[in-house]
Amino acid sequence: MQTKRHPLISDVPGTERCVISHHFGQPGSGRKVYLQAGLHADEHPGQLVLWHLLPLLQQAEDAGRLTGEVVVVPCANPTGLAQALYGEGIGRFELHSGENFNRHYPDLYPQLVTALTGRLGSDAAANCALVRQNMQALLQELQPQTELASLRRVLLQLACDADAVLDLHCDLEAVLHLYSTPSGELEAQALARHLGASVLLLAEVSGGNAFDEACSTTWDRLRTHFGAELPLGSGCFATTVELRGQCDVGDVVAAHDAAGLMDWLAEYGVFSQRGLTGPHPRAEACPLAGSEDLQAPVAGLLSFHVAPGSWLEAGDAVADIINPVSGERQTVRASQRGLLYARSDKRFTRRGESIAFVSGKQIRRSGHLLSA
Ligand SMILES: [Zn+2]
Repeated sequence: MQTKRHPLISDVPGTERCVISHHFGQPGSGRKVYLQAGLHADEHPGQLVLWHLLPLLQQAEDAGRLTGEVVVVPCANPTGLAQALYGEGIGRFELHSGENFNRHYPDLYPQLVTALTGRLGSDAAANCALVRQNMQALLQELQPQTELASLRRVLLQLACDADAVLDLHCDLEAVLHLYSTPSGELEAQALARHLGASVLLLAEVSGGNAFDEACSTTWDRLRTHFGAELPLGSGCFATTVELRGQCDVGDVVAAHDAAGLMDWLAEYGVFSQRGLTGPHPRAEACPLAGSEDLQAPVAGLLSFHVAPGSWLEAGDAVADIINPVSGERQTVRASQRGLLYARSDKRFTRRGESIAFVSGKQIRRSGHLLSA
């Protein structure tokens, strides 16, 4: 294992932060997999999973069983990890700018089109290498002006030339689920089976240029632009893995997830292993635009009827909202069949807040599909 420090530029004198990455295997020896956790710095399950994964990768490297390259960043957002307000960690938004740490990644597509026009041929592997080389060159040319911009650049520099990118997050209270693109569905299904994910939520573009989509959708757009005669190879499969809820942090579950990741790495071809543990059943793939975002029609105390992982029919009660002043009670119901994969961790809701999400097969939303 090789450990590297990537200093961030500092917004104020007297502070210095850096991203630490751990590298296994030989670059160029096979496929490259990049895993990070804690980009939303108040989402900790993935961080513990990666600390369980590191010794497993070390054993594999020592035994000469790594057949590719694996890069691991357990703490992808030191800026967010340091933020707190009145005793609560604030890890989703940068307090200075108000920006979500997992949005607004640089869109390299327009400059890549310019750089690659006239330089691609019929050799997919050569084209793929050229795209990756140009991505790195464009990122190198960026001149970030803030710590946040330099964080985004460092993370993309570590990930953008990988064959697979796993960004480990979690929801508030949830079962394990994955976000990816339709072009990544097969790879996402394989990962979902090893992790035991219940549902895959797929979208060509979710809006906001999140980290995973900055890695993957650029390839989809380049493929569409250059056409089949100039093949680009497999490009980059990227997924956001929602490792259950914010409180689902513990050694037992983290060790289980790390073992699942090793099994997936073996299937993906960067780790030779015999006797994989039996994978879980196939996850249900649904369009992200088919998810029902159940919002509170009134403010009040929130009493859930169902837990994450419950399959619902249209009309099933999800929660009662009780007005603490009048005692009035209103029931919120699912309007479609699907899996309740995430719900709020609050027990008092304001009017209009999202209280639960139910997967669905039919498209029902458009525009920005992710929460703020
Ligand atoms: Zn997150």
